[in-house]
Amino acid sequence: MRNADIEHPTILGTIDYHVHTSLCNHATGTMEEYVQAAVGKGLATLCFLDHLTFQEAGRHNSMNLMEVPMYVDAARRLARKYEGRIDVRVGLEIDFSPRHADRCMEVVDTFDLDVVGSSIHFLGGEDVVSRRSAWARGELAADQVYPKYLAVLESMLDYDYFDVVCHMDLPKKYGQRPSQPVIEGFTGLLEKVRERNLAVELNTNGWHCPVNEAFPSPELLGRCARLEIPVVVGSDAHAPDAVGRDFDRAADLLRQAGYRNVTGFSSRRREMVPL
Ligand SMILES: [Zn+2]
Ligand SMILES: [Zn+2]
Repeated sequence: MRNADIEHPTILGTIDYHVHTSLCNHATGTMEEYVQAAVGKGLATLCFLDHLTFQEAGRHNSMNLMEVPMYVDAARRLARKYEGRIDVRVGLEIDFSPRHADRCMEVVDTFDLDVVGSSIHFLGGEDVVSRRSAWARGELAADQVYPKYLAVLESMLDYDYFDVVCHMDLPKKYGQRPSQPVIEGFTGLLEKVRERNLAVELNTNGWHCPVNEAFPSPELLGRCARLEIPVVVGSDAHAPDAVGRDFDRAADLLRQAGYRNVTGFSSRRREMVPL
């Protein structure tokens, strides 16, 4: 359940709710190396949010379903081992596609997860994240990609298996930013995000992509704040040294947007963390 918000005595800049592991085949580092990096940076909480996708095109960039129990157990073992030094949590970044939504529901009901994030990396088989994709190479027009992305995002919001909308404006990754009408499209969907009682992620990895802007943009983040949509912070680290990256900058951005706290999760319940 993602309903009641409870107070959590942590300070901002110290919680990272989105890191990967070598299980997804395109990140480096063991789970323990991510935890050690987080301890070294003084983080209070680290949450694994590794990939799970059922889409054929993303199969090689994701753990498979059989690995999920081992992943969850490994995170829980690390939580016990590092207790008192850092809170270790575990969730999944699930790739949304309407075709696989039933399986997503099943997965989140089966495993003991702290948080579930939902992402869109593929649009009808078209990859919007790989640097080898037609979109990244500039071979697709923005008006072929953004309207499709908005439609898939809208349909994702009809499902109930997740707590967080990850990197909401991801198609801008390679520098093709959304036009003003597309920004209005995103803004319209924020109403639905609020109605569904979901959180939005501030993903600092955007500052390390060609677009050089966090996901979502400051403009969209400000609109999230005005709608009082809870916000989660994640580095999207694919290597241990990227854990907690740019969180000071994220804190400034959040304050400018009007946020006074960020959100963590335990057993899929939200925890408010003061900024
Ligand atoms: Zn992602
Ligand atoms: Zn990710």
